[in-house]
Amino acid sequence: MNNQMELTFSALAQNEAFARMVISAFLVQVNPTLSIISEVRTAVSEAVTNAIVHAYGEQGGRVVLRAELDEDKVVIEVEDFGRGIANIEKAMQPFYTSQPDEERTGMGFSLMQSFMDDVKVVSAPGSGTLVTMKKRVQEHDAD
Ligand code: ATP
Ligand code: MG
Repeated sequence: MNNQMELTFSALAQNEAFARMVISAFLVQVNPTLSIISEVRTAVSEAVTNAIVHAYGEQGGRVVLRAELDEDKVVIEVEDFGRGIANIEKAMQPFYTSQPDEERTGMGFSLMQSFMDDVKVVSAPGSGTLVTMKKRVQEHDAD
């Protein structure tokens, strides 16, 4: 079975919870364990929050969430078309944040990496950011 979804929404804080709900609802069809759902929700939440918080200035913009289920694997993309990241390696280091004064801890990418099997970031200044995350989603044992 292969199943895909794509969703575009405004880069607004109230859409963080919306994105979490959408990814959970999409994953439920493969009957995953609760811990897998919660790990994927957290990873998606961090990527979407980054797009909302870091990608755009005052004028805002669009965020795209895509997910593809193929057998027991899910591939998730979170894309924005904002300012981009100049030094991806540095940005992905634990505790690195460009906004230390705004209660950010710099743990977003680290959480994505610990909860997903694979995280890739493609980004360049001025051309937006694409985060691709993969995870094997084990089925919850039928009882
Ligand atoms: P936290 O996630 O703990 O609130 P944070 O967002 O600063 O803090 P990360 O999520 O690890 O930490 O991101 C590290 C840095 O990478 C950010 O501070 C920001 O400079 C940059 N960054 C991440 N995502 C984007 C994005 N979509 N567009 C532009 N810059 C980004
Ligand atoms: Mg973050």
